[in-house]
Amino acid sequence: MGRYIGPVCKLCRREGEKLFLKGERCFTPKCSFDRRGYAPGQHGRARQFRRGRESDFARQLRAKQKARRIYGVLERQFRRYYTTALRRPGLTGVNLLQILESRLDNVVYRLGYAQSRAQARMLVTHGHFNVNGRRTDVPSMLISPGDEISVREGSRKRTFFKELPALAEKANVPAWLSRDLNNLSGTVLRMPERSEIDGNLNEQLIVEYYSR
Ligand code: SF4
Repeated sequence: MGRYIGPVCKLCRREGEKLFLKGERCFTPKCSFDRRGYAPGQHGRARQFRRGRESDFARQLRAKQKARRIYGVLERQFRRYYTTALRRPGLTGVNLLQILESRLDNVVYRLGYAQSRAQARMLVTHGHFNVNGRRTDVPSMLISPGDEISVREGSRKRTFFKELPALAEKANVPAWLSRDLNNLSGTVLRMPERSEIDGNLNEQLIVEYYSR
C-alpha cells in the first residue's frame, strides 16, 4: 500500500494546527508550523485573513483530511476503512477511529516504541517486529485484542533498540494497551474507547463527508 512521500510540515500548515507528524522535532523551535503558521502556497498568508464562513463541505473535507494525515493513510485505504466501519455494529465514526487505532504502526507508536507513526511504519516495514511471535512487515495490519507485539530477537542487538527503553519510558501508554519494557513488547488488552483516542478529531464530520 502506498504512502504520502511529499513535504510533511506542509500538512500541518494546511490543516492550520500541529499534527505532530515528526516526533521530537515537533517540540523544538524548528517546527515549521511555529515559524510559519499559515497555509502553504503563494496566497497562504492572505488566506488566513480572508473573512467568510466555511461551507459544510469544507469542514467535512478538512476533518477527513486531518484524520488521514495524522494516521498516514491514503484516500483509497481510508475509504475502505470507512466501508468496514459502516458494516460494523455501533457508531460508524467511532468504529472508524478504532480501526485506525488498531493499525500495527499506530500500536507500535502508542506503545512508545517509535517517536512518530511515520517512524513506526518504517520500523515495521523493515521487519523489526513480531505479532504473536511471527515476523510481520505490514504496517496496515489490523491488531485485535489479545495480540502481542514484540521487537524481534535479532533486532534487539541494534543500537536503536538498545537505547529504546530509555526513550519509550517517557511515553504514556494508553489504558487499552499494556507494555513490557524489559522484553520490548506490548499487548492489546481491548479496543480503545472514544474518550481514549486523542487528537482533535471530529468523526461525525468524516461520516458526513462520506455519506454525501
Ligand atoms: Fe507539524 Fe511536526 Fe512539522 Fe511542526 S515539526 S509542522 S508539528 S510535522
